[in-house]
Amino acid sequence: MTSDVLIARLIDLIGDRIEAHASELTELDQAIGDGDHGDNMRRGFKAVSGEKEALANMPFGEALKKAGMTLVMNVGGASGPLYGSAFMAMGKSAEAMPGSRVEAARLLEAGIEAVKSRGKSDVGAKTMLDALVPVLKSIEAGADIAAVRKAADAAVEATKPMLATKGRAAFLGERSIGHIDPGARSSALIVHAVCDALEE
Ligand code: ADP
Ligand code: MG
Ligand code: MG
Repeated sequence: MTSDVLIARLIDLIGDRIEAHASELTELDQAIGDGDHGDNMRRGFKAVSGEKEALANMPFGEALKKAGMTLVMNVGGASGPLYGSAFMAMGKSAEAMPGSRVEAARLLEAGIEAVKSRGKSDVGAKTMLDALVPVLKSIEAGADIAAVRKAADAAVEATKPMLATKGRAAFLGERSIGHIDPGARSSALIVHAVCDALEE
C-alpha cells in the first residue's frame, strides 16, 4: 500500500469508528468525567477528515504532524492536546510510512512518550496510556493483527478496576473504580481502525 492510500484509509476508518462509537464514549465519560469525550473526538476527527485530500498528498510524517495540529485545535478537553501531541510526535519520529514491525513500534512509542510528558502521567493512572502501552508491548512481543486487537480490548477492560489519578476522573477518587476509562476506549477504537487499514 502506498502512503497516500494508507493515509486516506486511516482517516476514513478512524473517522467511521469514532462516529459509530461517539455515544458510547460519551456515556463512559458521563460516568467518570463530564460527558463530552464522544463529542470531542467526533469534532476532532471530522476536522481531520475535512483535510483528507491535503493530508494524503503529504509525506507520511508531515501528514501525522498536521493531523496532530488539527486535533489540538478541534478536539478540546484534555484529550485534544494529548492526542494532538501524540500524532505530532509520531510525525516527527518518522518521515515515511513504517515499513516493519520495529518501525511501527517506534512510531507508537514516540506517541506514547508525548502523552506521558504532556499529561505528566504514566500507566496505571486509568488513562489512554493504559490502552496504548499494552498495545505497544503486544507489537513488540510479535503479536499478529488479531492479537493486537485483543490486547487493545483487554487493556480497555483492565481500566475498569483502576483508580483514576489523572484527568477529571481523578476528582472522583474511589468512585472512579468500576468504570472503563473513556480515553482508553477511544485509543482502542483508533488501534482497531489502524489494524483494519493494515489488513486491507
Ligand atoms: P476532558 O476530561 O477535559 O473533558 P475528554 O473527556 O475529551 O477531556 O478526555 C478524557 C480522557 O483523557 C480520559 O478518559 C483519559 O483517558 C485522558 N486523560 C485525561 N488526563 C490525562 C493525562 N494527564 N494523561 C493521559 N491521559 C489523560
Ligand atoms: Mg470529558
Ligand atoms: Mg471536557
